[in-house]
Amino acid sequence: ERIDGAPWVGTSWKMTKTLAEGREFARGLAEALAAEPRLRERVRPFVIPPHTALAAVAAELEGSGVVVGAQNAHWEDAGAWTGEVSVPQVADAGAALVEIGHSERREHFGETVETTAAKVAATLRHGLTPLLCVGEPAEVRDAGGSAEHILAQVRGALDGLSEEELGRVLVAYEPIWAIGEHGRPATVPELEAPFAALQGEFGSRTAAILYGGSVHQDNAAELLAMDDVDGLFVGRAAWRLEGYLELLRLA
Ligand code: PGA
Repeated sequence: ERIDGAPWVGTSWKMTKTLAEGREFARGLAEALAAEPRLRERVRPFVIPPHTALAAVAAELEGSGVVVGAQNAHWEDAGAWTGEVSVPQVADAGAALVEIGHSERREHFGETVETTAAKVAATLRHGLTPLLCVGEPAEVRDAGGSAEHILAQVRGALDGLSEEELGRVLVAYEPIWAIGEHGRPATVPELEAPFAALQGEFGSRTAAILYGGSVHQDNAAELLAMDDVDGLFVGRAAWRLEGYLELLRLA
């Protein structure tokens, strides 16, 4: 936790939820936060819907204090890029944040250090907040290479930014072996060295460094209690509104 701010606790819905489901979640979240103003002071919530629900969710959450993000955006502003969506387009739909470099995108959609760098730059150029995701596979962890692996991903993606730009970047450390139903949550001792490495090089220069990967209601509090963890980035455990609210209340 940082002395200068409340922890970030957010969720990406990945490829789940219809428009109606997204709208219902967002409406319920806005109502819950309005009913619990002290919760809003203790935590910084963010929600990252699929593109199809972005505008509707952003409209429901306007004025709620919840930051709405997109799961991806292209580095070019416009043009012949079939199937892609640009940063100005997601901003137009209501996004204030762009998730970049999630391991699922690196594995299945060819995201590289170069594309993450281009997307971070485009996101900053348009005044949105990049949420850069990094993480190592199990083999790298077993070989003791976690810190070097993730530092290389962060250095590559943030190379050449000014200190002012760096100060607007959120980083999420999400070990690949910890993500999803085939993963297992990282333990506090396992996270100490990678977080110390990330905080040592980027902690005072970036906005915050979050943990993600099988965060659940029963491990969130101990992860948030770690000095080096500035917030949580959650998938499955936050896809039901009640589950997400429980996580916000633990922060
Ligand atoms: P999970 O997903 O919480 O479902 O493991 C985390 C993530 O991919 O950010």
